Amino acid sequence: MKITDIQVGVVEAPLITPFKTALRTVDSIRNISITVYADNGQIGLGEAAPTAVITGETHASIREAIMEYIKPAIIGMEIEDIAQIMERLEKCIYKNTSAKAAVDMAIYDLYAKRYNAPLFKILGGYRKALITDITISVNGVNEMVKDSLIAVERGFNILKVKVGKDPIGDIERVKAIREAVGPNVTLRVDANQGWTPKQAVRIIGTLEDADMNIELVEQPVHYSDIEGMRYVTANTMTHILADESVFSPKDALTLIEKRAADLINIKLMKTGGIYQAQKIVHIAEANGIECMIGCMLETKISVSAAAHFAASQKNITMIDLDGPLLCMNDPVTGGPAFDGQVIKMSSEPGIGFSL
Ligand SMILES: [Mg+2]
Repeated sequence: MKITDIQVGVVEAPLITPFKTALRTVDSIRNISITVYADNGQIGLGEAAPTAVITGETHASIREAIMEYIKPAIIGMEIEDIAQIMERLEKCIYKNTSAKAAVDMAIYDLYAKRYNAPLFKILGGYRKALITDITISVNGVNEMVKDSLIAVERGFNILKVKVGKDPIGDIERVKAIREAVGPNVTLRVDANQGWTPKQAVRIIGTLEDADMNIELVEQPVHYSDIEGMRYVTANTMTHILADESVFSPKDALTLIEKRAADLINIKLMKTGGIYQAQKIVHIAEANGIECMIGCMLETKISVSAAAHFAASQKNITMIDLDGPLLCMNDPVTGGPAFDGQVIKMSSEPGIGFSL
């Protein structure tokens, strides 16, 4: 089963409500879609999210990385030789992780189709369903409380609360949400690098003293401040989750060696796809560190690939795959079913899209 062609397109999906974090505000998803063709007529699908503020990638850079570097490196290769394909994918261009992720997942889609099994089974098949959280965008207190109550009403019992734009007001935001939703809803807090290490220790400590029962705090400080991450992790009781600080398996090793986080958030757009993400999960597992699977603003195409990966791994214990839930419509049918907070894996071969 040979790779004969790779084509790049655009996938668009308007969001139900604007997505706001400490880093950006977005109204509509406009990502790169890719199709990898095999000589037996089958195709694999992938998607890349140009998240310039996090990965440094744009529409133009992703398109060029795929068409000018990745495509010539892997065209003509046998899908069965997946480890060799992945070696070339990794080496043909430095970084450009979202471009690589799109190709990686399309290759895995074809690889699982080759063996006529759902991708999550080929990767390890640990579980058949996932429970995702849903994001509450950073806004004024009242709006965030309202959005949280709507989410709980829709059946979500894990909320990812975005903060970090206004450190002084963040304690009030989290307290108001906890008061509104009651004690039985799990709260995850994501500061998206918005605090200084000292602010983070103060804010998290205050939430602990007030018994806010926060499951974890994600990326409290700047991604490059590993010493700051270590300081926050050492000086709080709440679990600290690294997101923007970990792209590669090497980043995960460094972070773990320095004890700079308790948990790691894996996103395919940061790792360059499933092949590298597997290494991070296993490094973490060997060190007793559990992982979350997350996504950027992505549609059902790439979030489905992430769901297959998450379902395959014992050590991915937290799921943040709400991309399709934020979209007005899906660009593909079939694949895992996104039904409220439950993501159910399906039995079709590959990622499972109907074509
Ligand atoms: Mg995050």
